Amino acid sequence: MSQAAGEFVAKIKAKNPGEPEFHQAVQEVVDSIWSHLDKNPQYRKAKILERICEPERVILFRVPWLDDRGEIQVNRGYRIQMNSAIGPYKGGLRFHPSVNLGILKFLAFEQVFKNSLTTLPMGGGKGGSDFDPKGKSDNEVMRFCQSFMTELCRHVGADTDVPAGDIGVGGREIGFLFGQYKRLRNEFTGVLTGKALGWGGSLIRPEATGYGATYFAAEMLKTRNQNLAGKACLVSGSGNVAQYTVEKVNLLGGRCVTLSDSAGYIYDEAGITPEKLAFVMDLKNVRRGRIKEYADKYKGVVYTPADPKLDYNPLWNHKAQCAFPSATQNEINGKDAANLVKNGVYVVSEGANMPSTPEAVHLFLEAKILYGPGKAANAGGVATSGLEMSQNSMRLSWSREEVDQRLHGIMKAIHEQCVRYGTDGNSVNYVAGANIGGFIKVADAMMDQGVV
Ligand code: NDP
Repeated sequence: MSQAAGEFVAKIKAKNPGEPEFHQAVQEVVDSIWSHLDKNPQYRKAKILERICEPERVILFRVPWLDDRGEIQVNRGYRIQMNSAIGPYKGGLRFHPSVNLGILKFLAFEQVFKNSLTTLPMGGGKGGSDFDPKGKSDNEVMRFCQSFMTELCRHVGADTDVPAGDIGVGGREIGFLFGQYKRLRNEFTGVLTGKALGWGGSLIRPEATGYGATYFAAEMLKTRNQNLAGKACLVSGSGNVAQYTVEKVNLLGGRCVTLSDSAGYIYDEAGITPEKLAFVMDLKNVRRGRIKEYADKYKGVVYTPADPKLDYNPLWNHKAQCAFPSATQNEINGKDAANLVKNGVYVVSEGANMPSTPEAVHLFLEAKILYGPGKAANAGGVATSGLEMSQNSMRLSWSREEVDQRLHGIMKAIHEQCVRYGTDGNSVNYVAGANIGGFIKVADAMMDQGVV
């Protein structure tokens, strides 16, 4: 990194103390686009990078609610409205005890570039709360969501800011949030995406992130005249993204052998078949149980509990060709990346946001494997949210085939942008491609709109 780039990142760190994930996300983008800025001084002069790193607005609020014992609980709610140069703010809500300002700023920052890559008119935002839905009753989740939306409703709207789901926010939470918005504002609009089909949702939205990450892997493989058929795949997480990654990998002839949750992971050499996946979906989405139950139910499956004393994750230490990290940020460290490469993995398609640490990314790039960073590989989710917004505006619904076809087309277009801006000799640096491709559209819009 040049001295000037280093100074820029140092300023960001000083101005945003205690936000390591945000620093990490900014650093990666600066590394990728700095030389592009050298060649395009108009962006420097207009201080585009300085402005892109500063949220347009940060909303922070108290979320009081009553638990089932009648006791008052207090959580903290956030919405980061990062950048609206190319469309209304768009990005998910995360409910997880680890949520803080820095994590949401990193996610909102990534979202700006990701949404730009989708080719759709969406700005970037992110929000959530340190509320933990795990172990809460449906009524408690509902009371929390109602209190959260009571404040959030002043700041969002179909043409202003359109949140969606993320970790801990699925169909149940979106339903409670939407119900409260409608009640308070007395309007039925597309203020949230990820809605159920009967009241404005889009077919394929639940599937979109996992399907998209799999399509992206297939596109990367295509550059080597290969496909997913017969490939062994490591998948982490067992939530929305992981489940539909397994579904699509199965459809394309691959074999997924792992799934995890925060308590541990399962290794199923025989592969997670559609029947076993149906069990996982019921376990995780209906019964809200732990992945360990998979190993109790199926023979020949090994369950390994998470061990915080280890400095690597054994899930990433199995022979395979592809990896789909689909749990959370920084879940693949340098040691994990080395294990992946050593075990033959040469395709990494990130369903999660920023799941690889800078050391891991460096190792993947050095090994010249097919490494698709989250902001490109997992953009299918928000892209299909964009398609849900279009259908809401037109007050009509597209068929499953039509939405899937559009999603597939968008993932191909994202891949093309990565190739266009990231080709380096004989190989593609998808990190550089995604960052430069995502940046240009937003930067040009900001230039057009003046100093705002
Ligand atoms: P879910 O809440 O449905 O599932 C998350 C899964 O990851 C769970 O299995 C969870 O286990 C596990 N997990 C979460 N945090 C941790 C942690 N700190 N350590 C270990 N395991 C963890 O979330 P999604 O599937 O929606 O999201 C997964 C990732 O994909 C996130 O990074 C999200 O930002 C990203 N993403 C999601 C999109 C979407 O459309 N949903 C779109 C684009 C990106 P447990 O239940 O035990 O916590």
